[in-house]
Amino acid sequence: MVGSFHRDTWAEIDLDAIFYNVASLREFLDDRTEIMAVVKANAYGHGDVQVAQTALEAGASHLAVAFLDEALALRKKGVTAPILVLGAVRPEDVELAARERIALTVFQVEWLERAKQLFKEELPVSFHLKMDTGMGRLGVKEQEEAKRIVAIIDEHPLFSLEGVYTHFATADEVNTEYFSFQYQNFLRMLDWLPYKPKWIHCGNSATSLRFPDKVFNIVRFGIAMYGLSPSLEIKPHLPFALKEAFSLHSRVVHVKRLLPGEKVSYGATYTAKDEEWVGTVPIGYADGWIRKLQNFQVLVDGVKVPIIGRICMDQMMIRLPKKVPVGTQVTLIGRQGGEQVTIDDVAQYIGTINYEIPCTISYRVPRIFLKKKSIMEVRNFVLDGNRYV
Ligand SMILES: *Cc1c(COP(=O)(O)O)cnc(C)c1O
Repeated sequence: MVGSFHRDTWAEIDLDAIFYNVASLREFLDDRTEIMAVVKANAYGHGDVQVAQTALEAGASHLAVAFLDEALALRKKGVTAPILVLGAVRPEDVELAARERIALTVFQVEWLERAKQLFKEELPVSFHLKMDTGMGRLGVKEQEEAKRIVAIIDEHPLFSLEGVYTHFATADEVNTEYFSFQYQNFLRMLDWLPYKPKWIHCGNSATSLRFPDKVFNIVRFGIAMYGLSPSLEIKPHLPFALKEAFSLHSRVVHVKRLLPGEKVSYGATYTAKDEEWVGTVPIGYADGWIRKLQNFQVLVDGVKVPIIGRICMDQMMIRLPKKVPVGTQVTLIGRQGGEQVTIDDVAQYIGTINYEIPCTISYRVPRIFLKKKSIMEVRNFVLDGNRYV
């Protein structure tokens, strides 16, 4: 049983593309540098466990998520690889993390003291100390605080400092001035520590691909694993081609002829100029296909056609060059013949970054996982009754 769904809208996740992207990075990096696959936010909307397993098969050794719940979801689905939570966790949940062998990020003395007070388990906990070198988000900035955190961890018989890391704000920009400033800060901060923990890391996708000699011994590989460039400006400078894993499809469920002057959708904002063929497509803003995409283009029969009128919650209309049969496939992201709509195209049209697009395609859109060109699994989150647990 690979799963099933009962609506004509779906996303296809090409796991071979993910495998290729991770394996290519594996080949590109120094043998001593390991890969932590970043699978937060349901693997950027692609499917957490499927992506995690593929990345591990392709050469990643660790996983990272943003929240403890995401790590627990992976454990529940049988993932045994080391997992690091990059975001804040409640001090009372450190016991739960210990039971599930999930490593935590630490960046506050008060938090660590509270966690120590509450901790009654007889199990070890691994921490990665986060340094704020200029991102201004999570992380320690002062030497005294860093030293205090290491001392508290070292005093505790079950706590251990497994890693230290930072995050760059501009690694995806051609101008490397601020990147260098942060990198120098990180080097300075590493000297504050009484010893070097097992893992030292600072590389997101952009850093791993552009500065492989500045990533220490493990990288946190996110966006590029999904085949997307960390930014448009470094896209021409990537060391190897990436393969986009996510595509989005639907089928025309109604086709009709409009007469000149007839209107389409809420607000009656679209008026047919001539006799026109219009197709209704069952995807809308509740699927993450947001209203701002009005007038953007989708692929039908290998040609680009416009979205006309306002996008509704569950449906939208497209102008067809000719009458097509009900059931004709519509590709919103991906290829048809020689034409392609990329995630970057969608992101640029609505003035955002590629990261936001697959994350925003909601749980209501089932994901079909393809491996070696055949269907490995179908996840219908609506039938499963929740997002991705
Ligand atoms: C999301 C995230 C990453 C991954 O970044 P990409 O640009 O997607 O490679 C790495 N590190 C931290 C701390 C993150 O939050």
